[in-house]
Amino acid sequence: MASAGLSYVPNNPNSPWQMYLLQVDRVAPHLGHLERWVETLKRCKRVLAVDIPINRDDGTVAHFEGFRAQHNMSRGPGKGGVRFHPDVTIDEVMALAGWMTVKNAALNLPYGGAKGGIRVDPKTLTRPELERLTRRYTSEIGLIIGPDKDIPAPDVNTNDQIMAWMMDTYSMNTGATATGVVTGKPIALGGSLGRKEATGRGVYIAARETARAMGFDIAGARIVVQGFGNVGGIAARLFKAAGASVIGLQDASGSVANEAGIDVDAALDFVAAGGALVDFKGVTKISEGEFWALKSDIFVPAALENQLTETRARSIATKLVVEGANGPTTPAADDILHDRGIKVVPDVIANAGGVTVSYFEWVQDFSSFFWTESEINDRLERIMVEALKAVVHTAEKNNVSLRTAAFIIACTRVLAARELRGLYP
Ligand code: GLU
Repeated sequence: MASAGLSYVPNNPNSPWQMYLLQVDRVAPHLGHLERWVETLKRCKRVLAVDIPINRDDGTVAHFEGFRAQHNMSRGPGKGGVRFHPDVTIDEVMALAGWMTVKNAALNLPYGGAKGGIRVDPKTLTRPELERLTRRYTSEIGLIIGPDKDIPAPDVNTNDQIMAWMMDTYSMNTGATATGVVTGKPIALGGSLGRKEATGRGVYIAARETARAMGFDIAGARIVVQGFGNVGGIAARLFKAAGASVIGLQDASGSVANEAGIDVDAALDFVAAGGALVDFKGVTKISEGEFWALKSDIFVPAALENQLTETRARSIATKLVVEGANGPTTPAADDILHDRGIKVVPDVIANAGGVTVSYFEWVQDFSSFFWTESEINDRLERIMVEALKAVVHTAEKNNVSLRTAAFIIACTRVLAARELRGLYP
């Protein structure tokens, strides 16, 4: 893997940061007097790039590039995940941090936005190497994270074990056990019930509510899901449990379909046991082109950015797109979907269930008092439904897309806080 220098991709119109900037441009005219502060949203408050050298098991030393971007902290400490992926760049991490600012404000969580990542394919590392990588990264960004500064969480290819190592490393360096420094931890370490399922559950709630408003029921709906990990896999399971037919799935191993509906639980067990989705019995392997042409009622992109491109937006055969991933739809594709009458529930609402239960976890850690799973799921349900309602109302009032409406609500909150705090010095 070539990894010389900072992986910043300036002036690339399809870069996630450029996508994010275009989305901010679209909200600016709707911000009233707060528009004078909009430049604040077009830059990151702070971005840290770190070198992460580790000892490989074979005795050699390898270097990796890591980042933590803190986009905005006007409303509270930074909050957002950490991803381990070979395509991580400083540009991507900045965009993901910007989307966290918007997401946290749209849900009215008392956080700013942040994101981190390491440019690495974790599958190429042994478990001890992965632990050393995680610990060194945590130590390097230790200067700027903390329970009241910036609170990382899982994202693509990171999980509760990685959060446990991060929490331990931070705690060892500061000399006190600080469970609130990360969320998405194992339950035995101050993690929250329901956190693992929360992003997928939020996607399911957003889809169910929007489908109902559009006049169709989840029961009997045809669903296609791109991504079969912690977001897509859980969402697919909940869709199936609600009586929907999951007719197409895609993960890194390829695309599969079954017109009669995929047995999602069995597929999840198969993949959890180490099988590749494409080898699962009861599905037909299909091509990438066939996957994007599947006829569905709801399409859930739950993998990476830049998946719903202009070409795919022109031909996708669905009524409703619910963004489980961050940044899956390009702004140009957004316009095409809008013109074709395909509704899009944007990432900053659709996948906000994860960070919402992260917030519950952080509150539980601070108070050292833990809630039951049904209390957590009930509160998540209520917050998601209310946030969605407010977005739909704002969209109708301003005659804009759900994405611009979510940005109007969120950016108004961020910039109102920014204005009240004023400029220092
Ligand atoms: N990585 C998740 C997201 O993109 C969760 C972030 C968090 O819980 O802080 O929203």
